[in-house]
Amino acid sequence: MSEVMVDSVVASSDFKLETIVDAVRRAVGTPNGVLGLHEPVFAGNEIAYLEECIKSTFVSSVGPFVDRFERMLEQVTGAKRAVAVVNGTAALHACFRLAGVEPGDEVISPALTFIATTNAIAYCGATPHFVDSSLETLGMDARALAVRLDAIAQRTATGTINRETGRRIAAISPMHTFGHPVALDEIAAIAHEWGIALVEDAAESLGSTYKGHAVGSQARLAALSFNGNKIVTTGGGGAILTNDEELGRRAKHLTTTAKLPHKWAFVHDEIGFNYRLPNLNAALGCAQLEQLDGFLASKRQLAAAYERVFAGVPGVRFSREPAGTTSNYWLNAVLLDEAHAERRDDVLTALNEAGFGARPAWTLMHRLPMFAQSPRGDLSTAESIERRLINLPSSASIRPRDE
Ligand SMILES: *Cc1c(COP(=O)(O)O)cnc(C)c1O
Repeated sequence: MSEVMVDSVVASSDFKLETIVDAVRRAVGTPNGVLGLHEPVFAGNEIAYLEECIKSTFVSSVGPFVDRFERMLEQVTGAKRAVAVVNGTAALHACFRLAGVEPGDEVISPALTFIATTNAIAYCGATPHFVDSSLETLGMDARALAVRLDAIAQRTATGTINRETGRRIAAISPMHTFGHPVALDEIAAIAHEWGIALVEDAAESLGSTYKGHAVGSQARLAALSFNGNKIVTTGGGGAILTNDEELGRRAKHLTTTAKLPHKWAFVHDEIGFNYRLPNLNAALGCAQLEQLDGFLASKRQLAAAYERVFAGVPGVRFSREPAGTTSNYWLNAVLLDEAHAERRDDVLTALNEAGFGARPAWTLMHRLPMFAQSPRGDLSTAESIERRLINLPSSASIRPRDE
């Protein structure tokens, strides 16, 4: 609410594109060519491990780097079990399956997310059900979730159902947007109150913490991504995190064709997936994870520089980490005041012309043809964020300029 009042302070005539471009320039300098939104950094043992992997001939879906990568992920996150898979979307798909999402179910998720969250729900034959996002966290709004469930949900002997559609609500899937953790305790309490499984989409937030714990580490099920644009990359890759040993065992089984262990026989006891991360990709991942602390430190410095320069720019607000959390600042974001929302594309054009690979937020899921008919609550905050948000170049290699 306070935001609305602050908005009107800056008259449209005082809103200057050049001020915004200048602020970015003061934070990161004048780019030599184009400064991409997020570029990987290979400054460690990448080549050595890849060479070792190739020389071993174990480049495919079984090999020592896969185990090593999984153990490193467990160490970095504090989760009991990490299962490496072929990409983040596959990790989410497996998480939803492991959470018991069945064809005909609904899964509550934010409309402001990358398509992978929503696609993974659809792969299960389930329907996404969209709830609003929070201006503070940019992720699922706990209050909006509670309000929506109060309005449509009903507990029955077979689970919580949506009274309007008759479908079971099988899971709630918050996503830690651009690395900012959601209000996890509040959302987990609501999920618990309604007896609905919680699946965290932590694809963007490796290294982020909520009340001192790595996001995803306290979850029954969480998904990570190691796509080329994420904070740590395996080329393509993902992981399932869980604190439940039995679920961890099931996660490995389900994502490795559900084959029963045997010296030579091929017996599979359910329809599993070939979602294994190749050893070659895991080798890259091990080298990358060794550098995570350094990446996090660089990204915090860059975020601090953006925060500093934008503090002096009227009509624009830097999106800082929510209280009680540390963000990995995967992608830095600024929000234009609502009064200047119609200038968003002009700002994007000006930044890109100046060599800064700035981008808007994703098109909200309920606007996409596949999900236009999906049930949804009020999405006015997500729509406002969509109108106003701009992501700024955020690579760990960017050295902020000293002012
Ligand atoms: C990157 C990402 C994923 C996973 O994407 P993959 O490219 O399949 O690894 C899932 N959810 C969100 C929100 C993401 O940003």
